[in-house]
Amino acid sequence: MPPMDADLLHRYLEFYQDLGIKTLYRRTAPAADAQPEAGVPKGPGETLPQILADIGDCRRCRLHEGRNKLVFGVGNPNAPLVFVGEGPGADEDAQGIPFVGRAGQLLTQMIENTAKREGIALTREDVYICNVVKCRPPGNRTPEPDEMEICGQFLERQLAAIHPKAICVLGGTAARALTGHKEGVTKMRGRWFQWRDVPVMVTYHPSYLLRPYNQEAKREAWEDLKKVLHFVYD
Ligand code: URA
Repeated sequence: MPPMDADLLHRYLEFYQDLGIKTLYRRTAPAADAQPEAGVPKGPGETLPQILADIGDCRRCRLHEGRNKLVFGVGNPNAPLVFVGEGPGADEDAQGIPFVGRAGQLLTQMIENTAKREGIALTREDVYICNVVKCRPPGNRTPEPDEMEICGQFLERQLAAIHPKAICVLGGTAARALTGHKEGVTKMRGRWFQWRDVPVMVTYHPSYLLRPYNQEAKREAWEDLKKVLHFVYD
């Protein structure tokens, strides 16, 4: 892990705050003769804060140039269900939290209202939400393949750390990135795919559902969500 500095500490604290943890205790300083902690290997067993620390002040691709805040992910680190979007928009870039703009509000409503209607006790805080790329593409353009390739390794490490029971991918770009399938979202939605040993349900991106005259797509997205919620929580 990189050495802790004020910026990294700040991100750690923001990360825990996003998880709803408001109080943290400082471990007492190690004894002068204590052995240094063994380095934490990447891979199985790593935690979300360790992955965040490894991302650090990321400059691995061009998307860092225009970002205000890196948007890592939010929610329950042990969530049985993870939602994956494409990349942060303007609101997410300003706040450092995924899906907080209009599309995010719709996603939150869809999760909470569908769960309620189906008799499942679930709020947004119970799931984990993140994106394929962690920095906002300029003008909200689709992330380039090389950007998704570079940032995708962190998504994969997040998913491996959480190891959810299912993943719900939002929109064609994220669906293709995670499953490797090349079809359009209208062909993929409502069907189960696989990421490693984890079932993946594809549905429409909430921004698409915000467009007028999309009633049929909205109905289909509710159906997809019902499927994934029952699979995970029944
Ligand atoms: N769209 C996305 O794909 N992700 C967000 O976090 C917000 C909007």
